[in-house]
Amino acid sequence: MAPAQQATYDFETGIYRPPSEGGSYSLLLRFTRNCPWNRCDFCAMYKTEKFELRPPEEIMADIDAVAALVRDLQEISRQRGQGGQVTREAAIELINRNPDLNQHHGFAMVFHWLLSGGKTAFIQDANSLIMPTDRMVTVLRHLRTTFPSINRVTTYARSKTIAGKKHEELTAIREAGLDRLHVGLESGDDTVLKRVKKGVTADGHIKGGRKAMAAGFQLSEYWMPGLGGRDRWEAHAQETARVLNAINPHYIRSRPFRPLPGTPMAEAAQQGDFQILSPHEELMELQRMVEALEITSRVCFDHAGNYWTDRRGDLLFTHSYEGYQFPDEKPKVLARIQEGLTADNQTPRFLRL
Ligand code: SF4
Repeated sequence: MAPAQQATYDFETGIYRPPSEGGSYSLLLRFTRNCPWNRCDFCAMYKTEKFELRPPEEIMADIDAVAALVRDLQEISRQRGQGGQVTREAAIELINRNPDLNQHHGFAMVFHWLLSGGKTAFIQDANSLIMPTDRMVTVLRHLRTTFPSINRVTTYARSKTIAGKKHEELTAIREAGLDRLHVGLESGDDTVLKRVKKGVTADGHIKGGRKAMAAGFQLSEYWMPGLGGRDRWEAHAQETARVLNAINPHYIRSRPFRPLPGTPMAEAAQQGDFQILSPHEELMELQRMVEALEITSRVCFDHAGNYWTDRRGDLLFTHSYEGYQFPDEKPKVLARIQEGLTADNQTPRFLRL
């Protein structure tokens, strides 16, 4: 069988996904474009882009295009006597037959996804749950039917959007095949949330988080050490722990604040209106937050922004996606923070203004 024409391989992917989805070489599928909120003062991700819903037919055509690519790679592999296993040689031959694949934005992503077993998918962009529930369910079912090898589908979602859905809607989405939500909590302190224009209150975070848990999603909550600056660090630490205790998500992931060029917060820092914490102050904030955590979550530092080291110069925390199991490993994390407080930590160049 000759591979399908290149035009059938047309599908769209976005830029951003959580590190854990890169680590597992997830299939990236774009259900919506950009961010429907797009106002957070620390964020530079979609600032020049306009939010758009995509019609379900268009998304399902993308899924079919990926399926055509997979089918043709497997067919070439069989023709080469490689038993349908996707190999580098099969990929090169498909590119030779379809030179336009050299410029295809998603070809390498699909190839690596297949090489790593074709097990996980990530739905882009910033808040997929904004899709009307019936459309989301239709598209998720199509994804799961087309690729039965997928055993985990995840996406980003805003607390406020989750809180605005009925329990039955969330359950329907969950049952249609969405397993895990990645939520940007950032802070549990209302003053900080308002100041950075997060568009949700601490109560809204708790409501959204609890509804996600009640609907059976695996929940990852991302918090941002340093986001309160020098004037709010204690409230930021204590209130964030309070909100996380109320949710008790599966994962708590640390994403330290970094002043990104062009954002209002970087500008405020440059003007002296926002005081960025020193590494020592960040660790003190972290200590306060971790001490107050009463959860059974996995606490993770799975990002390069968690740069702190011990006295030997080794990273203070593992960057593993599975992190530390609380409460068992809470003393270990606190001991590492104490160790970091005695080391000479400097702010790395990539975190400076
Ligand atoms: S909701 Fe997320 S993607 Fe949108 S502006 Fe805020 S941080 Fe950025």
